[in-house]
Amino acid sequence: MDPAAPGTVKGLISRHGFWIKKSLGQNFLVDGNIVRKIVTATDPLPGETVVEIGPGLGALTRLLAERAKQVIAVEIDGALFPVLGETLAGLDNVTLVEQDALKTDFNRLVHEISGGENKKYKVAANLPYYITTPLLMHLLEERFSISTIVVMVQEEVARRLTAAPGSGEYGAVTVATNFYAQTRMLFRVPRPVFIPRPEVDSAVVRLEVRDTPAVSVADEQHFFTLVRAAFQQRRKTLLNALSGVDEHLSRGKWLDIFRHADIDPGRRGETLDLQEFARLANVFSSVLTEEPD
Ligand code: SAM
Repeated sequence: MDPAAPGTVKGLISRHGFWIKKSLGQNFLVDGNIVRKIVTATDPLPGETVVEIGPGLGALTRLLAERAKQVIAVEIDGALFPVLGETLAGLDNVTLVEQDALKTDFNRLVHEISGGENKKYKVAANLPYYITTPLLMHLLEERFSISTIVVMVQEEVARRLTAAPGSGEYGAVTVATNFYAQTRMLFRVPRPVFIPRPEVDSAVVRLEVRDTPAVSVADEQHFFTLVRAAFQQRRKTLLNALSGVDEHLSRGKWLDIFRHADIDPGRRGETLDLQEFARLANVFSSVLTEEPD
């Protein structure tokens, strides 16, 4: 059975008396071509584990399982399990887990299910739009043993994840994701390939997780504090945006920090690349750890 065929989806939903929950971002893919493109982008190798987040009716799950060693699918909605039982029938390398992906310790889950292997795994997901950013940050910040993440997200979010410094879409989320991973927008996905149709277009993004962050920072918390402050009021100069970050640092001290980091305090945060944010954060960290006179 092809769970991505429009007729199949309608049949499954009515036969199982399943109610589509908008609140869980349930828009099911009904286009075999897009399903194949996502699975090809994930590139599951025969010896690999793929974690799928939000399998829904199993559109991606089936094809992933045909190529990977095993698929662990984390789905929050238990009402989908009888449907998945039908669409995934005959596959013995899929484990369904009823859980909230935002609260999942993925290394632990993979370790428990794959019996002690510590290998890297891949993640594939057609994500509900409302959890995209928190989920990506959860996957990256926890430094799970993930090699690649292939996600379908709202097109606007895809543009933000892959934006270049200086563009309107470049923001704190761009810096944060690119700190941990190399991001690439792969292709757009139009609304009609889902049941029900979402209100926005989507796009698929691939994140290649880095072994070490893109830039070396003395204190990650300081780095992210400055990044967030720099983008909170985008129109402000960096000097104005950052001078409220620490009440003990005067404007004069901030001017020293900018000088040491070789960054013009009159620039706006949205023009800084990762290296420049790292330079600024490292001088900031060294000033904070200086012994008081
Ligand atoms: N993968 C399927 C497809 O492409 O047709 C379904 C995608 S649908 C956009 C998102 C899926 O994520 C739904 O099945 C929904 O129930 C599930 N979901 C929503 N929030 C979740 C969460 N916090 N943890 C795990 N799954 C979640």
